[in-house]
Amino acid sequence: MRDVELYRHLLGIEQPWTVSRVELSVSDQRVDVWVGHAEGVRWACPECGTLLSAYDHAEERAWRHLDSCQFKTFLRAEIPRVRCPEHGVRQARVPWAEPHSRFTALFERLAIDVLREATVLGAGRILGLSWDEVWHIMERAVKRGLLAKRERIAKRIGVDEKAVGKGQQYFTLVVDLDSGTVEHVIDDRKQVSLDSFFKSRTEAQLQGIEAVAMDMWEPYLRSALAHLPGAADKVVFDRFHIMKHVNQAVDDVRKQENKELRASGDDSLTGSKYAWIYGRENLPEKYRERFASLKAMNLRTGRAWAIKESLRDLWSYVSPAWAEKYWKCWYFWATHSRLKPVIDKARMIQRHLGNVLTYFKHRITNAMSEGLNSTIQEIKHSARGFRNRENFKTSIYFHCGGLDLYPATHGNPR
Ligand SMILES: [Zn+2]
Repeated sequence: MRDVELYRHLLGIEQPWTVSRVELSVSDQRVDVWVGHAEGVRWACPECGTLLSAYDHAEERAWRHLDSCQFKTFLRAEIPRVRCPEHGVRQARVPWAEPHSRFTALFERLAIDVLREATVLGAGRILGLSWDEVWHIMERAVKRGLLAKRERIAKRIGVDEKAVGKGQQYFTLVVDLDSGTVEHVIDDRKQVSLDSFFKSRTEAQLQGIEAVAMDMWEPYLRSALAHLPGAADKVVFDRFHIMKHVNQAVDDVRKQENKELRASGDDSLTGSKYAWIYGRENLPEKYRERFASLKAMNLRTGRAWAIKESLRDLWSYVSPAWAEKYWKCWYFWATHSRLKPVIDKARMIQRHLGNVLTYFKHRITNAMSEGLNSTIQEIKHSARGFRNRENFKTSIYFHCGGLDLYPATHGNPR
């Protein structure tokens, strides 16, 4: 078999394309494969499919292909151009690569597989690609995947903020709670941030949203009320976020009390912050003994802790009516506790009660699946090398978007 025939088979080149020449450079460790075509072939206009004869050829281009035994391999061709009466002069499509790509579809598939398992730097080393080339492939893969899933309906979503890098910089993440995939990543955590998600939805997708879990964060709530039909019954304030507020109140009580105790030489509360924050059943062994004696001291912090612990039971009710009854008792207790931080938080929750109790209809929380959360943490951890926020976003979509990232190849339709 001649080398051109061999490469025709290896590359899956089919009529009207043929391999015209193969050049091997041992010193450069590369193979160049020239692909040409027969005379008199008619080509389809990429816009409308009309068959036309070649008008001229574009300048020769090269596509990186799968290596041949560790020799970097490049496909080279002059792509024919057609002159469509309707669309003007256009390049015909080639079967081995997507328009504007510098890689063959098979190479992109391999690169995507490697990128799923390795960091950007690692993938670059394995594939012999520059930093920019790797990002180029990732961006194209994400764009392709997002286009393909444009119409999917996410019924139950979670809206969450994620701190990015240093300072007060945030992303807003919209997660499909059922599939555990990231639907949308937007700069900042303002109303306009979430607005841009709702605006990107089709009418059917908007109507299809049944419930939204979010933090008690006014800008997010305002956005949902403005864009989501029936939002008042669909927004559920996340229970873990609510408990975070109440835990903060317990800690504020502790700090104040600790200050007073220390003034009289008693430092029993010093360094006990985390003992009060754990749920009673999750308290680690190392805190247990100390915590038991702290509780026996009849401290204000102990009372705040008990009030906090009892609020956790709210979410275990099955019936919304009983849950509301329980809330009223708890609210009375909390607001008569004479503990200002606790009273303030109780009132804050009371103001938002409608969207706390929607939990009993939808039963969703914002807690992302463990897998998703740890993947995003990993991405964040390696974010130092990302150079910009767009790359960070691309990575989140690439790894967490649940996207079909592959380009079509001859034998593998999408
Ligand atoms: Zn056309």
